[in-house]
Parts: sequence; structure tokens; C-alpha cells
Amino acid sequence: MTAQSDWTALLLRWFDANRRDLPWREARPRNPYHVWVSEIMLQQTRTETVKDYFRRWMDQFPTLEALARAPEEQVLRAWQGLGYYSRARNLHKAARQVMVEYGGEMPREARTLESLPGIGAYTAGAIASMAFGQKVPAVDGNLLRVLARLYGVDQDIASTAGKKTLTRLAEAAIPADRPGDFNEALMDLGANVCIPKVPRCDQCPLRDTCQAFQENRTDQLPVKRPKAPQKEFAAACGLLVREGKFLLHKRPGKGMLASMWEFPMVLGKAETEARQGLETLLQTRAGEYLWEHKHVFTHQIWYMKAYILEGGTVPEGEYGFFSPEEWEQIPLAGPHAKLAAFLKKGVDSKERV
Ligand code: SF4
Repeated sequence: MTAQSDWTALLLRWFDANRRDLPWREARPRNPYHVWVSEIMLQQTRTETVKDYFRRWMDQFPTLEALARAPEEQVLRAWQGLGYYSRARNLHKAARQVMVEYGGEMPREARTLESLPGIGAYTAGAIASMAFGQKVPAVDGNLLRVLARLYGVDQDIASTAGKKTLTRLAEAAIPADRPGDFNEALMDLGANVCIPKVPRCDQCPLRDTCQAFQENRTDQLPVKRPKAPQKEFAAACGLLVREGKFLLHKRPGKGMLASMWEFPMVLGKAETEARQGLETLLQTRAGEYLWEHKHVFTHQIWYMKAYILEGGTVPEGEYGFFSPEEWEQIPLAGPHAKLAAFLKKGVDSKERV
């Protein structure tokens, strides 16, 4: 293998010529609030999708202070469609904490950043290196994959030991003069060249120094143990209408889709169980289903059906009737926003997604 500094120089030269133009990279010097928001949005969402969300977000909340002052409902509304709403809630909470504890200035050190809600080691590394020039790696899936191949590391990159090994290699390689560019270059290389399944080694600036390429092992690295299969549920949703308004329920403040609104819904192992649960909840018979949809989360899959209900009783708890216009003002849980959009269109035939 060529000396380590050789590959970082090659990588940075490649980055200078090939860096992606992205809206959060526009501000010079880099704006820590922009880096932060973009990194949180990018955690579970494709870059192309994030671009529009990021622009709209910055129109609504141009500064950390504006975000901190906004009501939570507005923040969740702006996040709608990105999923994993705890990310939005934590951004909001952390912005308020930065206002109170740090006078509105983002902390510069990765360790301090990590103490804020929703900021893990990766995001802290990204903000500290890109916005403040701190010499810390931003260890994400891209970095782990590229370095596992580059150094021929056989450890599972999802394991603590594997992550430790690769983090150490990154720490040793990161240049003091361009730590942020180093991290972004690895992100870009991982996104466009050293991609997960079949890397584009013919376009790679690190080919001559890459152990996986030299040993013809790019299809074996990185080593990654398979994820546990997602749990599957039937999800029965009720359409209970009064005077043109639909019954909605606010989910609990903790857990999955916390504090988001949904059509009354019951999960079950099978369709009959879910449907009967819905009938018990709303004390009525479920009629025909009007809509169905398969919604895939990281750990769960919901096979949703929305049933027309007649009569029925509103259960105890946070329930309310909302018109389609009023849905626009409240944060709807992602899969239920799909149902709402379907109903709004006034389509009465069955939709299969
Ligand atoms: Fe990845 Fe291939 Fe480049 Fe090695 S040579 S870093 S496997 S793209």
C-alpha cells in the first residue's frame, strides 16, 4: 500500500475537481446551522429529496434562532414527508438549548456538540470539521465502506470493533489543514464511486492504493452482517366522518411517530385482528375498505387498509374532527398523510400502491 498521506492527497485532488454542488455547501465560510440541518435531513433520506426540503426549511427557519422560536407544530409540518420525526423534534429542542446555553452560537467541539439532542458522533464530526475546521472524522456508512475496502479490513463494519478499527484509520489519515473537505470527499466518493454493491473502481482516484481492488475483493468488502428482518403488521384505519370532517387521533408524545396525527388505527398480526380491533375501538362495524398501502419503515412494515365507518363512538384520549383544509395545519404521520392526500383528491376507487 502507498503511504497513507498519498491517498488523502489523491482524494482531495479528486474532490477539488468533482465535488457535488449542494445547497448546504453554498455558504462561505460554511454555516454550522446549514451543515447541521442538512446532515440530520440526510440521515435517512436521499440527497435529491433533501435539496428541496433544505431550501424550504431555510426559507422558513433561516437561522438557528428562527428555528428555536418556531412552535413545534410548524417545525413538524415543515418536516412532513421526511419521516423519522424525532429528528425534527430533536433539531428543534437542540436549537432552543443552543440559544439558552450557548447564547445562540453552535459549540465548536465535537464532544460538546454530541451533548445536544439528536447529534451523534457522526453529525458532531461533520459539523466540527466542516464548519469549524476541527480534525475529527465523520464516521458514517460511506466512510466505513470506503476505508474497509481501501485498507482491506475484514471486520464487520456494523460491529463496535469494526467501527473502532476504521475510526482509528480515519483519525490517522485526516489532514489537519482540510478536515472538512476530507470528510466530504469520502462522502462524495462513497455516494458516487465507491458505491455499495458494485463500486466504480475504473473512476476511482484511489485504485492504486486500494487493497480490495488490488486483491480483487471489492465484492467481499465491506463485511456486513445481515439486518434483522422487519416486523410486519396489518394496520386497520378508520374513516369516521361527521359534517365533512374526519376523526383523527394524536399519537402519544413518545415512541414511533410521536405527537403526529393519524386516522384512528389498530395494528394486528393479521387483517382480521386489526379490523376487529378497530371495530372495538370505535364501537362500530367496519365497512368496505377504500384504500390500501404498504408502508415500509426501518424496523416495521405496515399493510394498511382504510375502512369506511358508520356511526361509531369517539374514544377517550386525544381525538378530534378535522376537515381536509385543516389537515394542512397539523403534522400528519407519513403513511396517514398519504391516506389524507388520497381522500383529498376525492378518489373513491380502490388504490393499490
Ligand atoms: Fe472503492 Fe474501488 Fe476505489 Fe477501492 S478502488 S476505494 S473499492 S471504488
